Amino acid sequence: MVRVALVTGGQRGIGAAISEALQAAGRKVVANYAGNDAAAQAFTERTGIPCIKFDVSDFDQCVAAIAKIEVEHGPVEILVNNAGITRDAVMKRLDRKMWDEVIDTNLGSCYNLCKAVWDSMSARKFGRIVNIGSINGQAGQYGQVNYAAAKSGIHGFTKALAQEGARAQITVNAIAPGYVDTEMVRAVPPEVLEKIIARIPRGRLGTAQDIARGVLFLTADDADFVTGSTLSINGGQHMY
Ligand code: NDP
Repeated sequence: MVRVALVTGGQRGIGAAISEALQAAGRKVVANYAGNDAAAQAFTERTGIPCIKFDVSDFDQCVAAIAKIEVEHGPVEILVNNAGITRDAVMKRLDRKMWDEVIDTNLGSCYNLCKAVWDSMSARKFGRIVNIGSINGQAGQYGQVNYAAAKSGIHGFTKALAQEGARAQITVNAIAPGYVDTEMVRAVPPEVLEKIIARIPRGRLGTAQDIARGVLFLTADDADFVTGSTLSINGGQHMY
């Protein structure tokens, strides 16, 4: 049986590697994105993976997208909540809009999409949900009160929902990546990045493929006994 997988933010960065790894594992993948049409088109041309544009922070758009995917491809049995943004600022400059955008996009999206697939997964007695958290949700990070709160929330969300899904054979897990070489991290000033790498025992940034490997493990059909866990993939930077 070919299972349908939805990867949010799945056409670039970590999400693109996750989409491609799931496709290589025989899943029928649909990649979501927010607005970067050029990246989406190039990704589809390169991989054959269809992209669907919707805002993961908008509940109605999420519900409509899940319904559309079900009609066009089949029910979503694997959901990877990967889409995320940063709006970094110290508390003094962190305004309400920056707080809301990060909470709604990074954490609200997990509610929106899990809610949209939950009844179907429960009825089918199968589901694999992976939420992408962050080392900064585990350890906190200066200038990231909003992002750390959202990512930390993902870890609690995951543990609670895993308990609700267990009897229906829906597993819910999180991955907490360390610093991974994507556009999000390339936006960090080089002198700051140098200091970050110096603190990673493995001595390098992670790759998107490092994270995708974790997703493959957690979404395998026979990963049935792994639920409510957070897999840290961070080169040894934070042992949680
Ligand atoms: P990128 O900035 O490279 O990509 C972000 C992706 O999310 C894009 O596909 C973007 O779409 C999509 N996206 C953003 N907002 C929305 C939205 N409202 N609706 C739908 N899609 C949206 O991020 P990374 O690949 O670096 O990060 C992926 C995940 O991993 C994030 O959750 C991030 O917080 C987490 N993470 C990343 C780390 C890192 O070091 N890079 C470390 C720890 C965690 P579009 O292209 O259209 O804008």
